[in-house]
Amino acid sequence: MPDIIQLLPDHVANQIAAGEVVQRPASVVKELLENAIDAGATEVTLVLKDAGKTLVQVIDNGIGMSATDARLCFERHATSKIKSAEDLFNLHTKGFRGEALASIAAIAHVELKTKTDTAEMGVKIAIEGSEVTSQEMVVIPKGTTISVKNLFYNIPARRNFLKSNPVETRHIIDEFHRVALAHPQVGFEMIHNGSNVFSLPGTKLRQRIVNIFGSKTNEKLVPVAEETDIVKVNGFVLKPEFARKSRGEQFFFVNDRFIKSPYLHHAVASAFEGLIKTENHPGYFLYLEVDPHAIDINIHPTKTEIKFEDEHAIYAMLRSTIKHSLGQFSIAPVLDFNR
Ligand code: ADP
Ligand code: MG
Repeated sequence: MPDIIQLLPDHVANQIAAGEVVQRPASVVKELLENAIDAGATEVTLVLKDAGKTLVQVIDNGIGMSATDARLCFERHATSKIKSAEDLFNLHTKGFRGEALASIAAIAHVELKTKTDTAEMGVKIAIEGSEVTSQEMVVIPKGTTISVKNLFYNIPARRNFLKSNPVETRHIIDEFHRVALAHPQVGFEMIHNGSNVFSLPGTKLRQRIVNIFGSKTNEKLVPVAEETDIVKVNGFVLKPEFARKSRGEQFFFVNDRFIKSPYLHHAVASAFEGLIKTENHPGYFLYLEVDPHAIDINIHPTKTEIKFEDEHAIYAMLRSTIKHSLGQFSIAPVLDFNR
């Protein structure tokens, strides 16, 4: 029998990998916003057309890239953020897999404009089907602008799977909120089909929450702050009377990364026991700081799940500190739900 195994060409491998990283326009938004943060940007603008289906553009004033890096960043496993597997347990960046831009470039038309502080001119690169189709020098300020156009243009099945514009926009806003809440000190703007949707100046956490969710939120916030050997917790929970049936304002960040954790959610919910109806969910904005060696983020390509070494201790601490905070704000221990 003849040999039948062959290596897939890069653009095919990238398209397959893209399936894991890019499910919808919101995935592109997340990856590009995180890259801007990793580049040290203090001002980030997100520009969208048609719920991101036609255009997702992120403009940042971060460190930019050299002309060589501007080409290399679209290769698979191309990253400036880690050098060895050990680095995975000492992460200080959002990214590390070196997959996002390669994946995005395999399934969309991409244009990159970037300039470092020291370069005299910037570079502009266009990519189609994972190939560089043009490169020129441009006069631009320091920073990076990435434009992702016509998502899934070459995978009609994926494009057809996209939901209506309002639904896709909702997903984008969720990602935008998560990054904006993780980095209150960074200014964020969002423009959709030419109109300004969010204008969030860099500020402190409480003000960022109010700027996103409205001025009425301010009086709902109960501060939470506690520190032990293994974890530092900061942030706010919403007063029990603002618990709602629908899940909404529930945010966990670990080392400034938004994560989903049913386990930690349970810890918070249990601290509200007796204070809210069982069918209601508490609202919270909770920021955990842990030693990067004590967590594993490399569980899923989207990096929204995490493994903690000291899961039980964090659970117990979270529960007790929230109980304490709720008590301090002299909230009645039992509510009479029948009245
Ligand atoms: P990762 O973020 O996991 O390293 P990406 O594919 O998202 O992988 O990006 C690849 C590399 O391109 C990054 O490591 C970084 O060096 C560079 N890069 C991407 N976006 C930006 C940006 N907005 N500003 C500066 N450099 C960037
Ligand atoms: Mg990245």
